[in-house]
Amino acid sequence: MQIPRLHPDTIAQVKERVDIVDVVSEQVVLRKRGKEYVGLCPFHGEKTPSFTVSPNKQMYYCFGCGTGGTAIKFLMEAGKQSFSEVVLDLARRYQIRVKTLEPEQRQELQRQLSLQEQLYEILALAASFYQHALRQPQGQQALEYLQSQRHLGEETLQQFQLGYAPATWETLYRYLVEQKGKPVQLVKDAGLILPRKSGDGYYDRFRDRIMIPIHDRQGRVIGFGGRALGDELPKYLNSPETPLFNKGKTLYALDKAYNAIADQDQAVVVEGYFDAIALHRVGIHNVVASLGTALSLEQMRLLLRYTESNQIILNFDADKAGTTATERAIGEIADLAYKGQVQLRILNLPDGKDADEFLTHTPDGAEQYQQLLQNAPLWLHWQIDQLIIGKDLKQAPQFKQVAQKIVKLLYKLEDVNQQTYYIDYCAEKLSQGQTNLIPRLIQNFQTQLNKLRQTPIKKDDKSNRKQHNLPVSIDLSLSQEHTLLQEAEALLLRIYLHRPEYRQTIIDILDAKDLLFSLSPHRFLWQQILDVQSVAQSVLLQHPEKLISLLQDRSIQFPEEMVLVEHLFHLNEKRSQDLTRTPLAIRTAAACLEVVTWNKHKRYCIEQWQKLNFATDPKRKEYYSQGIREAYKRLQELQKIRQTNILDIHKFAPI
Ligand SMILES: [Zn+2]
Repeated sequence: MQIPRLHPDTIAQVKERVDIVDVVSEQVVLRKRGKEYVGLCPFHGEKTPSFTVSPNKQMYYCFGCGTGGTAIKFLMEAGKQSFSEVVLDLARRYQIRVKTLEPEQRQELQRQLSLQEQLYEILALAASFYQHALRQPQGQQALEYLQSQRHLGEETLQQFQLGYAPATWETLYRYLVEQKGKPVQLVKDAGLILPRKSGDGYYDRFRDRIMIPIHDRQGRVIGFGGRALGDELPKYLNSPETPLFNKGKTLYALDKAYNAIADQDQAVVVEGYFDAIALHRVGIHNVVASLGTALSLEQMRLLLRYTESNQIILNFDADKAGTTATERAIGEIADLAYKGQVQLRILNLPDGKDADEFLTHTPDGAEQYQQLLQNAPLWLHWQIDQLIIGKDLKQAPQFKQVAQKIVKLLYKLEDVNQQTYYIDYCAEKLSQGQTNLIPRLIQNFQTQLNKLRQTPIKKDDKSNRKQHNLPVSIDLSLSQEHTLLQEAEALLLRIYLHRPEYRQTIIDILDAKDLLFSLSPHRFLWQQILDVQSVAQSVLLQHPEKLISLLQDRSIQFPEEMVLVEHLFHLNEKRSQDLTRTPLAIRTAAACLEVVTWNKHKRYCIEQWQKLNFATDPKRKEYYSQGIREAYKRLQELQKIRQTNILDIHKFAPI
């Protein structure tokens, strides 16, 4: 069959719609492992799965034979089909209207492409023009502002191609049209000049402004932000929407950030250009800025491509406007967050500062900022806290109002585990230390949520409720828990690798409590350690220190995974000193791992407990209630162990 040339719109729509997990799982049995799926590679014979599919990256990769690519490539290889055949198939499947290219359409497309190329060229010329003007006498004031107010050195000015638009009316126009011979229409389409309102001719859109070029992901200039030097309004003037520039689809500095976002598996979104520049300047590179608008769904999706675990941190200003902007941003992307498709966290800097101010006024600003990022609360925590801040919960009407708003928030959570977790969290917050209230609050939330779902449940026997006096659980936010766990796991592994004499102790403690490594890179490394030990038993008996080099040999086989744990193989002087109180460190770290187990157990019990009815199931209700109490008790003990020695853990932690 002769396949017609497909229209790029059709191809783009197919790419947008197709989901790699759907496509692959039609031919391969996939199992979820962490954020990814694994299965037996269909392209080479194997008995243990080395074929992985990443729904976030929308890519597959086989560690066995090295094949990899997108959903379309998978179908091409699996079905020995051409690109067009695959796209056509998918278009049918997703009911996407297929547009083909007639010869004249092809010409038109060619023309549009060449127009785009010319626009890129014009914008690049404009950027160098502005950059040049910044170094001229006319740009003196702008340059001084950047140096003294924004603390930007030459390197940063160059890196971000900052410039200055002269105060005159047609300097850029003359440069581009008269000197460089660019067509007026195109310069206008690029958003750089405007037709005069009276009479003929054009004038420059940006005048007497600091010019901040906005680049696309590939690093090409697609527009500008212009900041007024004086009190002129607007303070920030952006390029208009053009064929190249679409505000809602663009993130400032993404071209300089995406590698770091992928490396650190986390993206930070700030409000202003200069916040992003300031953070990059001090070496925090996983940062982009939204372009003065609420973060759109499309911008969010753009970011999510680069982070495996979908971690996004919003750092908007903490003033009233910033809080509103944050709430608006959350509103846009709440759907993703509620579905658990993004791990959204909110960072408000102390004293309502923006990132630029914070870095300027804080000694060790970069380090402090990193620390704050690590402890940023999850968005729902932030929202719940916003609801509670300034309310007097002892007043019944205020209490009721807050509780109702919380129910509305929780109602949207799709993940049952998350819902259980947050019901637990809110009950604790609202109880204000009166622990005997917690079970009742939990039950109330559950009842309200059920009411919202219009599936009323039967009322419980009131007299029985009083028995559930549960102590308050640990007051650490989820993200702090995560950080601590990460540090604890790393510590255990580091001791295991570098202190052979403690290996048996670690194995014993893990076995005794049935503890597992929760974070996938650590779990991976632990598996590798066990593998290496079983194949190289005799070598290791003689030379236990060889474990590390044997593991490093596996980097060839598992390059991507090994990179993530590589830092554990090295021990600098400070670290080796830190390893002196090893037995205590092992116990503390193990306690951190145990917390995870008990938290899971607690949530499970709460969930089951909520489902049951006292009237019909008193025994099981009591059983789970006991489980909850037991979990709270053990968690408190563990908390004590951790608190006593927590500084040690942080000291061992990788920076
Ligand atoms: Zn393979």
